[in-house]
Order: sequence, then C-alpha cells, then structure tokens
Amino acid sequence: MQITIHRGTKQIGGNCIEISSDETRIIFDIGDELPEVNENKERERIIPDVQDLFLSSEKTEKPIDAVFISHMHGDHIGLIDKIKTNIPVYIGKYAFQIWNTIQEFTNRAQVDNPIRYLFNEKVISIKDIAITPFLIDHSAFDSYSFLIECNRERIFYTGDFRCHGFAKKYTVAIQNNPLLKNIETLLIEGTNLYKDNFIAESEFELSKKVEKVMVKENTVGNVFVLQSSANIARIQAIYNAAKATGRILLVDIFTANILCKLPKRIPNPFTFDDVYLFFPMALTKKAINDKPHLFKPFGKFKIASDELLNRKDMVILVRESMVYEVKKRIKTENSCLIYSKWEGYKEEYKTAEFLELFDTVVDVHTSGHADIPTIKNFVSALNPKTIIPIHTITPNKYVDLFGEKVKFQDKNSII
Ligand SMILES: [Zn+2]
Ligand SMILES: [Zn+2]
Repeated sequence: MQITIHRGTKQIGGNCIEISSDETRIIFDIGDELPEVNENKERERIIPDVQDLFLSSEKTEKPIDAVFISHMHGDHIGLIDKIKTNIPVYIGKYAFQIWNTIQEFTNRAQVDNPIRYLFNEKVISIKDIAITPFLIDHSAFDSYSFLIECNRERIFYTGDFRCHGFAKKYTVAIQNNPLLKNIETLLIEGTNLYKDNFIAESEFELSKKVEKVMVKENTVGNVFVLQSSANIARIQAIYNAAKATGRILLVDIFTANILCKLPKRIPNPFTFDDVYLFFPMALTKKAINDKPHLFKPFGKFKIASDELLNRKDMVILVRESMVYEVKKRIKTENSCLIYSKWEGYKEEYKTAEFLELFDTVVDVHTSGHADIPTIKNFVSALNPKTIIPIHTITPNKYVDLFGEKVKFQDKNSII
C-alpha cells in the first residue's frame, strides 16, 4: 500500500490521508483547518493530488473509492460537503448525527453522499483493501481509529485519541489486542508532543474538581459552564458533578437535540428527570417556525420562566451568545462560571466579553488528546516497524522519542 498525506504532517488538524493499492484509493479524514491554531503560519494545501475528490474531472484514471471519517471534529470532517456526491462516506452513526444536528442548527449544508455507518471491529472490504474500525477514546463522541490491510501489509491510523476519558477502555482494548501487535506502519497523532513531559488530568478527576466548585459551601448560587455542546464526555463529567451536589442540569435546545440522538445512558431531558432545558432568546421565532421538528418534541421539558429566574441550584451549560440569559433570565447572584474549553479561545473577543459578565471564573479543562505516557504506551503496544507523525506541530519530537522508526511524509508540501 502507498500512504500519501495530503495534509496534516506539520500542523494540528486539517487531516487528509490517502491510502491506496494498485486497485483502490481510500481517503481517511477530510478536515478543514483550525483557523485559531494556524494563524500566522503558511497553510498546507491539499488540492493538487486529490482534485478528483472534489471536482467532476476525469483527470485521475483511478477514482477515489471511499472516504472514512474518524470523528466529527471539523478538522477531520470539515470539507465533507465539498466532495463529489457519488463517493461513499463511512462514519460512526452518532458522530454523523451530532454533525448533522450542528449543520442543521447553523443552516449549513448537509451531505448528499451515500452514508455507511462504522461499527466497532466490523471489517469493511473495499476491493482489495480491508478496513477495521476500532472505537477509541477522544473528546469527540463515537471516534474511530482504523486498521487498514492489503496483501498481509497492515497500517494503523489512530485518528485523534487519548486514554484519560470515559471511553479509555477502547484505547486500552486496542493496546491489548494481540491482532494489532507488530504492524508495519503506525500513523499516530501527536497534538500534545510540544509540551515536555505532559501528563493529562482524567475526565474523572475533572469531574471531582468540578464537584468541589459546585458544593454550596463554595458556590451558593447557580453554576454556569462554558463548554462545547458537542463535547459529550465533558457534559457527562459536569452532569456527574451536578448530581453529586444535588443540582439540576440545564441545557439549551441545541444541546438537547444533540444529546437525544445519543445512547440513553448519556444525560438528556427525555430520560433523565434532573435534566431540563431552555430556549435561548437568540433563537428567533423564524427558526422555530421553519424547523419545528427541532423544537416541538422538547416543549414539555422546558423549565418555567419563573423557575429559571428564581432557582439557585442549577448548573447551566452556556455559550457566548447567551448574554441575554445571563443578564436577564437567570439568577447570577453568588454564581460562578466554569470555563471548560481550550485556553486559547479566551483571546477571542466574544469569549472575553462573555467572561466579563461573571464575578468568579474557574478554569477546569483537560485535553482531548493523548499525553506523552499514552503515546509511548500505544507505540510500545503496537510495536510498529515505521511511525509516521500526523496532527502535530512538532513532528521532530517523535524522533526524540522513537528514533529511526520515524519517517516523514513530505508530499503535502507540494502546492
Ligand atoms: Zn483533530
Ligand atoms: Zn478531534
């Protein structure tokens, strides 16, 4: 097999990898770039070798057979609505539903391609290449890594991963799987390699930390949480802490639409009697009239306005657009805000302005990516002959850790 990394060897995100045989061409991830990470740097281009992925040209004799998406973060799926609509897309069911909900709420394009769902360890054969998806722990729900096999050669692509979230058992299972030992090539992410000796806090530890903030001795009033609505592990951690401290969880209608698509064990207003929702004022009547299916089923779980205004025992998931809620609709006396996103977003104007609404801001966050011991353990478990770095700004750090096994892909430098 031949590996061509169209983008992602020298930056975090925007992954696009092609793995091909004489017969078959498969793309793994078709990500957009993360603008906030890549400011002030020259962008890696992906167009030249894969234009038949996007355009209806016959330039390449051999068309692309399929696109596999590891997870629903924009830096892995972001260009999916730009590819030719005849190419089948393989993705986790929940990942696709979360992505679709976000697209629908933000009035962005849906995908017309044939969609096929991935199932853990269920092999998919595409001509002479066999792909086995393996669930893996990451901050995106329903994330997969892939074993790619052809003529006894085996490549493993991690996608984004970690081993300190609630889905860590999946990462451990890959490491313990005897069938995955001694593979030829490991394509492994290294987002955190730029931090020397970095060890990540677990989502479980994070939940305990949040619990300390939520107890009445420390916060008498409501607790607001600024985090991504698509970070399901974090919502779970926040819910656990809310429950342990006798508070109810309040989510907005957008977050509720995501949660209700997921397995029933994930907190959601339909099946959890301590999860309620509210409709933010930023949502117009037009949106509610145009897309009633996103709003109507949730009406009965809506918290009453006077309760919203008077209760002091709530944990409320918020976004920067909810200024009106914080100022007028919810009690902020003796409250605090838990900031639970990447530190860098604080520099964005809308986030900085939102944070100013609160007297107390507590930072609680952990990485969605593997720390250094996890990367070392993973490499040692799979014991690959060759390691190819991806999703990293410090590819040379792999050489420090793993020596001559590391090979670089320079294809993406062609413009
Ligand atoms: Zn990523
Ligand atoms: Zn990711």
